[in-house]
Amino acid sequence: PTQLKHLPAALRFQALGTPFYRETPTTPMPEAIVVAWNAPLANSLGLAPQNEQLQLADYLVGNQTPQDTTPIATVYSGHQFGINAGQLGDGRALITAELTDPQQQVWEVQLKGAGPTPYSRRGDGRAVLRSTIREYLCCEAMHGLGIPTTRALGIGGSSQTIWRETRETRETAAVLTRLAPTLLRFGHFEHQYYRNNIEALQQLANWTLQYHYPECQSAANPYLAMFTQVIEKTARTIAQWQAVGFCHGVMNSDNMSILGLTLDYGPFGFLDGFNPGHICNHSDDTGRYAYQQQPQIGLWNLHCLGQALLPLIAKTDLLAALSQYQAQFETAFAEQLRQKLGLTVWHETDWTLVTDLFELLQGAQTDWTYFWRTLSHWMTRQNDAQLLDLILDRTGFAAWLARYRERLAQDPQSSLERSRAMLSCNPKFILRNHLAEIAIRQAEDHQNFSEIERLRACLAQPFAEQIENHHYADLPPDWASTLSVSCSS
Ligand code: AMP
Ligand code: MG
Ligand code: MG
Repeated sequence: PTQLKHLPAALRFQALGTPFYRETPTTPMPEAIVVAWNAPLANSLGLAPQNEQLQLADYLVGNQTPQDTTPIATVYSGHQFGINAGQLGDGRALITAELTDPQQQVWEVQLKGAGPTPYSRRGDGRAVLRSTIREYLCCEAMHGLGIPTTRALGIGGSSQTIWRETRETRETAAVLTRLAPTLLRFGHFEHQYYRNNIEALQQLANWTLQYHYPECQSAANPYLAMFTQVIEKTARTIAQWQAVGFCHGVMNSDNMSILGLTLDYGPFGFLDGFNPGHICNHSDDTGRYAYQQQPQIGLWNLHCLGQALLPLIAKTDLLAALSQYQAQFETAFAEQLRQKLGLTVWHETDWTLVTDLFELLQGAQTDWTYFWRTLSHWMTRQNDAQLLDLILDRTGFAAWLARYRERLAQDPQSSLERSRAMLSCNPKFILRNHLAEIAIRQAEDHQNFSEIERLRACLAQPFAEQIENHHYADLPPDWASTLSVSCSS
């Protein structure tokens, strides 16, 4: 019996042919072990339960692959920090299989860190344990928050060590298994466009339409219909990021999913104290990818995609579609804020209420997550003192609270209903850096992986009170302020 069932069919991506990928075997790793296995996800995908530890470990590091086909590394290009970086590609990720879940949804299975590929450039094709743990946890935390994301099925570890310039000693290598209906990026389209391979570009667009935007195929211009949907999905996902205070850290166009999924978790971070200029990636010197920049960067990246689609869509149509982004983002963000504030309808004038609140939160660097959760409870308890303590400018905040009360009075819900609604959209639990760090240290220093699973299970239900997990909702301890995350992983 195998944990990941063997699938005879070829990968859908292989139908595209060689301009798009290279067949690349995984590079074996010694002494494979299971670091993490997301049993609930495996079950929902209809994968057999884990029954032979050793074999599962070999799947997770890529020593065995579940499909009778050679894994593939796909090629993409992209704009990194605003500059056309030319060819990048899957330098350490390999699609090893496709599986169909009980709902007939097809998932690409990708091993990240499974060894060098033709696109590794100077990289070693590996990932370090700490970064696989962060990505594993954040994928599942984002999914729990209801935010479109790639999923994480497990982590395989081994005795292999690798070198990363940011650390003094060699680090443990590990492999993450991630899943998505497709891992296609804006950069895949950019690649064919900048190679002036227009036929291939069209072939890729047709493939994407067929498998991922079938409803667009009957539109007058299917490519435009698809692009319009990509714009809307991107706007919505980023609005959700802003609402939970998620900072991606490296919003290069090669890290943007054609499905609007949150993709490529590297130096990401969640806001603690509210600071619109927060930069989570320590290599981002200019703050290009700061929290408040994300919506604009989303549009910038969509322009990159639009440029790449110029051979397929008239420029005026492309620009008209892109001009919808700002409004779509604002609508989606307003929808998030409406829910966060416990309102049933959004009025244009509510923006002022929000802007003024943001200023107060910024002034006191109030913890973003803790504030909204406390406000959700305040709705039934009406304990003003507890809430006022969160904001430095008490007078200013008391005045804001009076305006908020007036606004609530125009809204027909009972405070109990409102509080319930707010508690189901303002999370108690997010993946703070220090929580990931504790799990990482136990894994690195003691080969103890139990904390990863405990934390994953908690973050999978971020809106539930989970009294027993109360400590995961604590504000960051002082030592967390020295944690630094960058692109090197
Ligand atoms: P990222 O900054 O993580 O989005 O990665 C940008 C590019 O670098 C992608 O083409 C990755 O595949 C590649 N890359 C990152 N780390 C490695 C590595 N350790 N070995 C090979 N390629 C890598
Ligand atoms: Mg990337
Ligand atoms: Mg990356």
